Amino acid sequence: MKIHEYQAKELFQAYGIPAPGGEVATTPEEAVAAAERIGLPVVLKAQVHVGGRGKAGGVKVVTAASEVAPTAEAILGLTIKDLPVRKLLVTPASTIEKEVYLSILLDREVRKVAFIGCAVGGVDIETTAKETPEQILRLDMSAADLQNPPRDRLHAFAQDLFPDPGQADQTVEIMAKMARLFTEKDCSLIEINPLILDGDGQVVALDAKVLLDDNALFRHPDIDALRDMDSEDGDELDAKAQGLSFIRLDGTIGCMVNGAGLAMATMDTIKHFGGSPANFLDVGGSSDPRKVVAAFNLILKDPNVKVILINIFGGITRCDDIAQGILDALEQRDVPVPIVVRLIGTNEEEGRRLLEGTQLTPAETLEQGATIATKLAATGGTK
Ligand code: GDP
Ligand code: MN
Repeated sequence: MKIHEYQAKELFQAYGIPAPGGEVATTPEEAVAAAERIGLPVVLKAQVHVGGRGKAGGVKVVTAASEVAPTAEAILGLTIKDLPVRKLLVTPASTIEKEVYLSILLDREVRKVAFIGCAVGGVDIETTAKETPEQILRLDMSAADLQNPPRDRLHAFAQDLFPDPGQADQTVEIMAKMARLFTEKDCSLIEINPLILDGDGQVVALDAKVLLDDNALFRHPDIDALRDMDSEDGDELDAKAQGLSFIRLDGTIGCMVNGAGLAMATMDTIKHFGGSPANFLDVGGSSDPRKVVAAFNLILKDPNVKVILINIFGGITRCDDIAQGILDALEQRDVPVPIVVRLIGTNEEEGRRLLEGTQLTPAETLEQGATIATKLAATGGTK
């Protein structure tokens, strides 16, 4: 899960990581009032879930009172990488003596947590990693290191970012606090770009990006409450509320599958036979027919869907319940595309019998189902 910069900075402050405070504004008037309370100069920063806001005109330093309202209005009118700006962070402007890059992340490829640093900050780190990889510093952290950060190794790393001993010490403190935040809140990334040396000799987080592990949110209700419904895919949230796992993709074959592993295998099989899945959808292990109805509604919201492939392995989920759910859904709403069904496992006979004589196309195997669905999608899905 992504959170906004202002929310990430609140977490930083709770953990003692120095970051400028500020206020959130949703209108130019609110921005003016906030700027008056904070005192000029201020920075107005678009709060959207993407990086590169500065380049897109979403971060502006304002020194004159008369400029606050027009600048706020301009930023609130922006759409950055498809995301409309609805909120601004109004924050005191800092003097930047030096900018570096610092992050702690879960590196899935090598299955390790690591600090990543670069003495040249404020720039796009991906570009640096590609063009001058020797500038990227890395410090691996074992589980024991995360519990009890080894100060000497942190210091050696910090000194490559800020050679001045006092500044390196401040950076070590920040790193130790980042390690604690990372562990306690189940983060997958904490990125500070730039981490700056300000005019008062303080090392401060000027920007903050925090990614949290969705699978751990159940133990962090405080973090879950930070979710910005405006910034997330509405359908994916709807699905979650109904107990379905749903990810929208850009293909033409709508998929309804029970079990995440089988859903992945179904998408792979569709691809293998030349088709393209329109979504990932796991209806879960329950046999609640209402979930099937909800799943149909989600899939059919997508105008690209030309055909639906239902792939059910009935273990705990009984095939006849799923079949009943499909029939219920077809009574409740018109499904204007062909439906290919592969039902196998518990009560498959009963399930298939229920579906006889309906608009559904039965498939014996997943391969057959994927082949039929791919053909139907290619011909525009006409029944
Ligand atoms: P991003 O572009 O989305 O990564 O947004 P950042 O928060 O990193 O801001 C982009 C750039 O704006 C920074 O690298 C700074 O150069 C500049 N900037 C942001 N805040 C301040 C500030 O308080 N003072 C000054 N002088 N520049 C700032
Ligand atoms: Mn940044």
